[in-house]
Amino acid sequence: MRNIAFGYSTRCNIKCAHCVAAEATPDYKKMELAKVKEIIRDLALAGVTGISFIAGEPFIYYDDLLEMVSLCREKNIYTRIVTNSFWAKTAEKTEQMLETLKQCGLSQLRLSYSRWHQQHVPRHNVLNAAHGCMKTGIDYFVSFVTDFSEEDDAYEQFLRDNKLRFFPEPVIYAGRADAFARKAIFTDYQENRCAMNPYLAPDLSMYACCDAGSHFNTEFFLLGNLQDNTVEQLFSKSESNPLYNCIRTMGVTAIASFTGMKARDIVTYRKCELCKRLFDSPETLKILQEVRGFELRRWVR
Ligand code: SF4
Ligand code: SF4
Repeated sequence: MRNIAFGYSTRCNIKCAHCVAAEATPDYKKMELAKVKEIIRDLALAGVTGISFIAGEPFIYYDDLLEMVSLCREKNIYTRIVTNSFWAKTAEKTEQMLETLKQCGLSQLRLSYSRWHQQHVPRHNVLNAAHGCMKTGIDYFVSFVTDFSEEDDAYEQFLRDNKLRFFPEPVIYAGRADAFARKAIFTDYQENRCAMNPYLAPDLSMYACCDAGSHFNTEFFLLGNLQDNTVEQLFSKSESNPLYNCIRTMGVTAIASFTGMKARDIVTYRKCELCKRLFDSPETLKILQEVRGFELRRWVR
C-alpha cells in the first residue's frame, strides 16, 4: 500500500518552539492548486491509497483543502489532515467546517497538541475540534507531542479528563527543537523499524521520510523532484533503495550496532534521533552507503 504525506504549503499561523518543519527563513512555499490536482491524479494512477495533508497548517487554505479532499474521494484515496486546531474557536463554527469537510470525503483529523502548541492555541480549540469530529462522524485522534517531562502531566490529564483519544509522540530533536538539550532515555533494546511514508514538499521535492529525515543536511532521504521525475519513478526509488529497506526491515537499532555504536549508548536514543545520528552524519553515511545493505543484512539474528 502506498501512502504519502502531502505538504501543500509550509506556511503556519503559529511558531512552536519544537517545530521540525521550521524553515530557516520566514518565507514560505506553496503549491499551485491546479498543479496539486494534477499530482493527486498521478498519485492515484501510481496506486497511492492514502494522503495525509501536513506541513505548515493546512486549514489556512480551507477552501483549497475542500477541493483537494473532494478530488481524493473521487480517486478513492483515504484522506487525513494534520492541524493545530487554530480555526476551532467555537463549537458551532467548528461543526460547520467539519460537516463540509465530511461531505467532501475527509476520513480523519489528527489534532496536534503539546505544551508548545498550546502557547499559541487555546486547548479548548482542540476539544472543539475533537467534539466536532465525533458529531460529524470524522475519525480523529490527538497527537500529544511530549518530552516526557513532569511539565506535560497536566497536558495529558486534560486529555484524560475530557476522554479524548490520544497517542503520545516523542518530540523530535530536529528543526527548532535542535536547540533543545536532548534527554537521554533508557529503553528496551528495541528494533526501531520504520514504515517510511514519503513526503512531498511544496517545491515538489519528494523525500523517503515524512518526519525529521526530510530535513537532514546530508539529504539522505531526498528522492528527487517531480519536475524531473514521475511519481512512479520516485516511489520505485524509495522502495528499491537497499539502505531504506534495511531501515524498514531491520530497524535503525541493528544498523547502529553494525556501525560500531555501543549497546549502552544505543538505548539512550529514540528512533528518529538514532536515525539522525546515523544518516545525518556524512562519515557514517559514507560507510553505510559503501556496504549498500549487503553486509548489513547479515547483522540480524
Ligand atoms: S509544529 Fe505544526 S503547528 Fe507548530 S509551528 Fe510547526 S507546523 Fe505550525
Ligand atoms: S526513523 Fe528515520 S526514516 Fe523513520 S521517521 Fe524517523 S527520521 Fe524518518
